[in-house]
Order: sequence, then structure tokens, then C-alpha cells
Amino acid sequence: MDDVLICGAGVAGSTLAYWLARNGLKVTVVERAQGMRSSGNPVDVRGPALPVVEAMGVVGRLRDVATRTKRVRLIGGDGHRIATVGLPAANGDEFEIPRSDLVTELYEAARGEAEFLFDDTIVELCQDEHGVDVTFDRAAPRRFDFVIGADGLHSAVRRLAFGPERAFVRPTGIYVATTSFGEPVDHPEDVLLHNTPGRLVAIHPCRDEGGVAFIFRARLDGVDYRDTARHKQIVTTTYDDVGWRVPALLQRLRDAEDVFFDAVSVVDLPSWSRGRIALVGDAASCVSLLGEGSSLAIAGAHTLATALTAASSAGFGRYEVEHRARVVPKQRAVKLAAAMLVPKTKVGLAARNLAARAWPWGL
Ligand SMILES: Cc1cc2nc3c(=O)[nH]c(=O)nc-3n(C[C@H](O)[C@H](O)[C@H](O)COP(=O)(O)OP(=O)(O)OC[C@H]3O[C@@H](n4cnc5c(N)ncnc54)[C@H](O)[C@@H]3O)c2cc1C
Repeated sequence: MDDVLICGAGVAGSTLAYWLARNGLKVTVVERAQGMRSSGNPVDVRGPALPVVEAMGVVGRLRDVATRTKRVRLIGGDGHRIATVGLPAANGDEFEIPRSDLVTELYEAARGEAEFLFDDTIVELCQDEHGVDVTFDRAAPRRFDFVIGADGLHSAVRRLAFGPERAFVRPTGIYVATTSFGEPVDHPEDVLLHNTPGRLVAIHPCRDEGGVAFIFRARLDGVDYRDTARHKQIVTTTYDDVGWRVPALLQRLRDAEDVFFDAVSVVDLPSWSRGRIALVGDAASCVSLLGEGSSLAIAGAHTLATALTAASSAGFGRYEVEHRARVVPKQRAVKLAAAMLVPKTKVGLAARNLAARAWPWGL
């Protein structure tokens, strides 16, 4: 029986663990975090991810924790409504789910099937024709038949096996910071968006606590993506002169313990595997915030599990062909999505607002 190590128990990692174990492989997952509590605004589960979560038997739970978002409202500085746009997802079987709930449900499905090592990571990988020797930060070294990096945008597996992050990660010049609203919002079906040129603030309804996102254009060099104090300072300075509800939202961000901050980036590697090591999810092909990263992570994990089970390392090629066909169009759409979500200039913002008023699902 093949013995597989997955690095990262996020969206891709737990989905992959579930399917590999179901297919009869022996699976270990190493996760840097101490447990499954994590931040994150709502993410979408749609398209090719839907049959995967259905087959995992988690759709009922996902439906229970899904948000009830039906519309996006664009709000001006004095609080007036600029446009209301209906969300097509609200009409179908798709889900919008707080990231933390999605990760928890996928982990719950996988935990009985695989061994999970929390609060640990990989520090060295050494592969030969027959397997991969893994050195962990805390656990004793072990040998596996395959190692899969499902450890997100700043993947350690990618750095160790493929090369430095700067060779593969293309920042878009847009940053995102998210935190909890701290209480339920008073608009449970509406996402509120307030733009100024180059800056967006969103208040998102979730089940128990709303979510807040600051999405902005900036040139930032050398920001450590784990330095939360610096992240809070950057967002505070960037939104210093913005009105609407922003001063109060900034205060919530400064008071919050759980803040997600990252550069919206596109990950682009010529190949997603090297010998017995492969990548999945954001580690392989991040399309970040603007491009359905969670759905692609779920679909990619399932495709990889099927290919690896059927054809061992020869399956990596098949996985890549099938999944790249889903990823490439989404990566191409990132620029347009960014222009719509965070217009750079006053003129761009006015054009976006005009387009929103004419949107086919406009209300
Ligand atoms: C805490 C957190 C909050 C997020 N919030 C948002 C959000 O608000 N909006 C949004 O659009 N996207 C957010 N994302 C990203 C989003 O979850 C991913 O784009 C998408 O779900 C793709 O999933 P993935 O499994 O490839 O990566 P991720 O969901 O990022 O999962 C990667 C997993 O690997 C773990 N990991 C990372 N490095 C290591 C390491 N060296 N060793 C072991 N484990 C490691 C992480 O802790 C995480 O559990 C967030 C990611 C994280 C980790």
C-alpha cells in the first residue's frame, strides 16, 4: 500500500487526504497550525467542486453553515446606495461558506481516514527513485512513497522541492486583510462594498459573526505575511482618510486577534510535480481571492487522488493536464476581476459603478 504524506490540512489537504485514504492508500497529514480554528471570510464552493463534496457526504453540513448572501450593495461615502447586484450563486446549488467552516467540515470528513500531525512542518525533503525521506520540525524523520504540498500560497514543499517562492509567485499589486466583524451584521442577505480609488472595504454576512475585508492596491516590499502587527499598521495607514463605516471597522481590525493578510497572487509553475513530490491547491496554482481558489483546490485534490491511485507517479501528468484546463481560464480572469473589484482611479470607479447598474442581475 502506498504511503503518502500531505503537507497542509486546509481545503486541498483535507479533501486529498479523504480521497486517497478512501482509495486505499495510507495517508499522513502534517499541519503547521495547532488545531483547525482559523480565520477567513466566506469562500465559494461551486462548479467542479460540487460533485466532490457531494460524494464526500458533507453537503448537508455545508448547507447548514452556508451564508444566505443574495446581493451585493455598492455604497457611497455618505451611505447612499449606488447599485445593487444580485448574485447568480444565490439561485443555484452553490455554497458560500466561511472558510473556517469549510476547512472544519472537510477535516471532519478526513480525520477518521488519515493520521494528522498538528503543530509541525517539513524542514527537509530528499527523494530517490523509490521514495522521499522527510525531516519534520518536531516529529521523527520518516520515509514516504509520495509527498504532496497542499500548504497554500507560501508552500514549504514548493520551496524545498521546486525552488524559491519568487520564481513562481506573481503578486498582482493587490492586498487583502480580513477579520471578523465581531457580531452578526444587520444585513444578513447583503454584502456591502464601499470603494474609493484603489481601495475597497467589504462587510460580509456570515452565520454568527459577519466578516470584514480590506482589499487595496499598494506597493509593499518585504512584508512578512505572518507579522500581524505590521499588517494592522499597513491597513490603518492605507484607509486613514476613508469615511463611511471605515474608522469603526479599522478599530475592529486593530482589536482583532485573528487577522488574515496576504498579497493577492498568481502562482505559475511549469510543472506541478517533480519525481515523487507534487503540489495541489494554492501551492500549485493560486488564483487567490479573485478566482475561486477553494473550489479549484477541492476539484484539484480529487483529480490528483484519482490519478495517483490509478497510475502512481505517472498519474501526476494526467492530474496536471486535467486540472490545468480548469485553472488557466480563472488565472486569465484575475486582471478583469481586480479592475471590477478595486478600480484604480476615479474614472475607473465611475465606469465600474455604471456597469454595476446595468448588470443583468441588477435589482
Ligand atoms: C488562515 C487562512 C485564512 C484565509 N482566509 C482567506 C480569506 O479570507 N479569503 C480568501 O479568499 N482566502 C483565504 N485564505 C486562502 C484560501 O483558503 C485558499 O486560497 C483556498 O482555500 C485554497 O486552499 P488550499 O488548501 O490550497 O490553501 P489554504 O486554504 O491556504 O491551506 C493551506 C494549509 O496549509 C497549512 N500550512 C501552510 N504552510 C505550512 C507548512 N509549512 N507546514 C504545514 N502546514 C502548512 C496552513 O496552515 C493551511 O492549513 C485563507 C487561508 C488561510 C490559511
